[in-house]
Amino acid sequence: MTTEPATILSMSGLAPEDVRLLRKLGETARAREVGAYVVGGVVRDLLLGGDVGDLDVVVEERAQDFVEAATREIGGTYKLYARFGTALLLPGGGVKVDVATARSETYAAPGALPDVEPGTISEDLVRRDFTLNAMAASILPDDFGRLVDLHHGREDLRDGVLRVLHEGSFTDDPTRVLRAVRFHARFGFSIEPTTEALLHQSAGSGALDTVSGERIMNELVLMLAETDPRPALLKLLTWNLTTAVRPCWTPGHAEVERLLAGLGPRTDGTRMTPLLALLVPVEPACRESVMDRLKAGRHLRDAVRDLGCYESRTAAALATERELSRSEIHGLLRHHSLEVLELATADNPGGRAAERIRLYTDELSKVSTLLTGADLLTIGFTEGLEVGSMLDELRRARLDGLVASRDDEMALARERLGRSGGGEAGT
Ligand code: ATP
Repeated sequence: MTTEPATILSMSGLAPEDVRLLRKLGETARAREVGAYVVGGVVRDLLLGGDVGDLDVVVEERAQDFVEAATREIGGTYKLYARFGTALLLPGGGVKVDVATARSETYAAPGALPDVEPGTISEDLVRRDFTLNAMAASILPDDFGRLVDLHHGREDLRDGVLRVLHEGSFTDDPTRVLRAVRFHARFGFSIEPTTEALLHQSAGSGALDTVSGERIMNELVLMLAETDPRPALLKLLTWNLTTAVRPCWTPGHAEVERLLAGLGPRTDGTRMTPLLALLVPVEPACRESVMDRLKAGRHLRDAVRDLGCYESRTAAALATERELSRSEIHGLLRHHSLEVLELATADNPGGRAAERIRLYTDELSKVSTLLTGADLLTIGFTEGLEVGSMLDELRRARLDGLVASRDDEMALARERLGRSGGGEAGT
């Protein structure tokens, strides 16, 4: 990496309009005689030569006062987050700038949220997770792009090393164990030996027990949002971190690896599917207990339960060697979630079940009747169950090619009505 510090904020990862915006924010800061910096992941990604998304700015004054002054100068709007003392600046043009007050933190108890006080940029950097995330670049006009690297983050970035800033880092905030997994997997960096020892010590001594389910879940969701979440998820297993979350959560590596390989880097459906792959090889009772621990939302819980239903009721029927009609396949799969269908396909992508699932998702799930419930009512069906079951029968008939046109469907519906002794067969 040969770039001189002064050029960091002109690097290609920043769009020219973002550079202009940062310069304007720097002018506001100078007029107010306060320090202002871009920080953390933004600086890291610029130095890595990657693209930068939303901007994170730290100011050495109240974030609220700064954004109020900045929007008076440059226009746009902002939102305040009083609870965190931060602000989101929306200067227009799509970019978002998170503005925070430089702060110092102390941890009253491991895993608890820290006590926060306004501080300097040095204090703000020393509270960060890893050296590569603990850099800032000034945006003041005379100083624009000056790198503040008090913890040798640039060196670690160059050497591809993930390192905590101090020995108590994982104890202060055990979610950093999970952040380490994510950055380690994303960048393919090594973990500096002391950092790795501290990580295992912390995870092995129950540090994650002090962290709320929501915060753990939040970290898992961030892993799932990676371009390819699989390396991070596998790392959770090799570092025994699922077990640290719940002792029963000890899935077999080989099975998880096979499922994740079958899912591919991205799943078509929802982002939760790779997490479900880690739950497949454990007992349903353990799955529930993991869901409780993670304070999982309704969607994930439902998908986990659906996994159990698929395993107990559908899997064997779907894999049968007997020829299944299109309507039978539809009937077996219609109530299952997308996540479970993705997993079942990943389990054995070349197998008979996977082939049937693909037929269902690509084709059968899109088949609907030409007649509507309203059409059935006009010829004498009664609202509710009767209409519902006739529509189901019509769909089955369409799936199996027994009806093709609207007239065919009408004829079948009238025949059923006649047989059940129902109402008029008019219109
Ligand atoms: P990503 O590319 O995944 O967004 P990021 O580093 O920008 O990575 P954020 O979660 O947005 O991640 O955090 C922004 C910065 O805040 C980090 O770079 C780091 O300096 C700091 N940070 C975030 N979480 C923690 C934490 N738990 N402990 C210490 N510092 C943290």
